[in-house]
Amino acid sequence: MKPDMIMLRLGELTLKGKNRSRFEKVVFEQVKKSVQSFSRLTFVLEFGRVYIHLNEESYEAVQKRLRKVLGLSSFSPVYTAPLELEEIQSTALAAMEMLDNGQAEFKVTVRRVNKKFPYDSQEMNKLVAGYILKAVPGLRVNVNQPEVELKVELREKQALIFSQSVTGVGGFPLGTNGKAMLMLSGGIDSPVAGFLALRQGLRLEAVHFHSYPYTSERSQQKVKELVAKLSGYAGDIRLHMVPFTSIQTRIHEVYKEDLFITLLRRAMFRITEKLAENYGASAIVTGESLGQVASQTINSMNVIGRAVEVPIIQPLVCMEKKEIIRIAEDIDTFEISILPYEDCCTLFMPPYPSTNPSLRIVESIEKSMEWLDAELDEAVRLTEQIWVGADEKPQFAALF
Ligand code: ATP
Ligand code: MG
Repeated sequence: MKPDMIMLRLGELTLKGKNRSRFEKVVFEQVKKSVQSFSRLTFVLEFGRVYIHLNEESYEAVQKRLRKVLGLSSFSPVYTAPLELEEIQSTALAAMEMLDNGQAEFKVTVRRVNKKFPYDSQEMNKLVAGYILKAVPGLRVNVNQPEVELKVELREKQALIFSQSVTGVGGFPLGTNGKAMLMLSGGIDSPVAGFLALRQGLRLEAVHFHSYPYTSERSQQKVKELVAKLSGYAGDIRLHMVPFTSIQTRIHEVYKEDLFITLLRRAMFRITEKLAENYGASAIVTGESLGQVASQTINSMNVIGRAVEVPIIQPLVCMEKKEIIRIAEDIDTFEISILPYEDCCTLFMPPYPSTNPSLRIVESIEKSMEWLDAELDEAVRLTEQIWVGADEKPQFAALF
């Protein structure tokens, strides 16, 4: 049996009043956009709920899209039946059988909206549960702590039957909390940081630094694929490809010691801040996690962050690696991230990067590089912009 409808819970957002209805409206718009290629779908708003009528479109295909709509907290496949006892009983049984997950304890909750229906809710609970019990050996009724609650709503024209609740991404609807630049490497962490920022309602543009020809074209392709995964949640994302070779080489010509990485990172942040200004973003999102590597000590992060005035959001800062990996797997970026690639920062990497850089010393080194500002501006000027959509076909695997 296939579901006839999908019932949406737009966002059990902990918001009140006006904000809430505004946000629900945005989520609903996003829902419609996400499934616009299914032309037979129709949408019905009823009693504060949103229903999608499938009209023979595939539930499986539609639900895949819904799982990526930001702000959508959950949804349920709904089976419909005409308002006749036998029809309701057999549909309810089929809906139970659809679950097919060996759960033994259930309860039926009937709500009679249509008072003309001849049996009241209590009678119907028994009539439906009794029918299911008889048909499926091994099931038990447990009204206090059921594993499955089968809900039956008797409406004016038909009965709605549903039990399963599919968890959505939740969070805030796309872009409702402003816009940020995501510094995206090809690693595991920054795509996860990007996802968490998107889920918190930030619209993103991605910024990637490459040191072509020292870093390969395939590592740029890899970054595009990571952006494509994020685009699954956000629609097309603009990716800024920053040529970093010249700055790296020039810094390395005059300074090769333990503060090299600190200097590079400060340059990256400065460029990203300029791009943020040019493209109307008011924060920078990065994937640092405290303690992971030398540049991710709190002192190091402080000295690097001081290079810019724009706020830096580091969603992973207090997360364990295994939590980060779990999210990377959920959003399907892990497999891409673990493919080998060269990050621009590994070029000219000193053997012992500083874990406790001094801001004073770093600033005085930068002062001696009187060409630095012009180089930063030149990198911004030479940055290429690419729009990356969700449907970008993976070409990456073929390159290995
Ligand atoms: P990731 O897994 O995201 O690469 P990481 O643990 O390797 O992170 P670092 O290499 O120290 O950490 O980088 C810290 C952060 O700096 C990254 O999460 C990312 O936001 C940013 N970053 C690093 N390299 C690049 C790059 N080539 N382009 C853009 N941003 C970068
Ligand atoms: Mg990295």
